[in-house]
Amino acid sequence: MKITNEFKCTFPAVSTNESLARAALSAFLIPADPTAQELADLRTVISEAVTNAIVHGYRNCSGEVAICLRMLPDRILYIRVSDKGCGIPDIEQAMTPLYTTAPEEERAGLGFAIMQEFTDSLYVRSSAGNGTTLTMRRRLGQIHAEQED
Ligand code: ATP
Ligand code: MG
Repeated sequence: MKITNEFKCTFPAVSTNESLARAALSAFLIPADPTAQELADLRTVISEAVTNAIVHGYRNCSGEVAICLRMLPDRILYIRVSDKGCGIPDIEQAMTPLYTTAPEEERAGLGFAIMQEFTDSLYVRSSAGNGTTLTMRRRLGQIHAEQED
């Protein structure tokens, strides 16, 4: 897999760092000249993934969230978000729209549905006690004709 650019970082699992993840994604993506819609979608995607790691993965403990962003050939953006938190015992159930283990916090259970909607592929690796890794890909559209030269 040829990687044309890559950015990796880890940060403590605190909610103030959700904006840090969005900002990192934006800065990484800007050279690829995404549309405003692509940028908005992908900022939402990374926000949902990082929020899940913080509020669910590290619900009962502290820890770190790791993100890896890659630009692959054909303008495919790769996003990986991982935590070493509590893990997900039943991934299929967790990914069911409206399923949440935190209804008392007014969570809608729509994070995974949103991530699926805004990406071309979403793969979840997780098991109870072993943390969670999300791997997502989205192909960006073509650069606008008037911006090509
Ligand atoms: P919303 O995202 O709408 O605020 P939510 O976070 O509960 O609500 P999803 O993001 O779809 O909804 O996640 C569904 C469920 O999957 C969560 O309620 C939680 O039980 C589990 N889950 C998701 N991510 C993780 C994670 N990183 N670690 C442990 N459990 C997770
Ligand atoms: Mg969520």
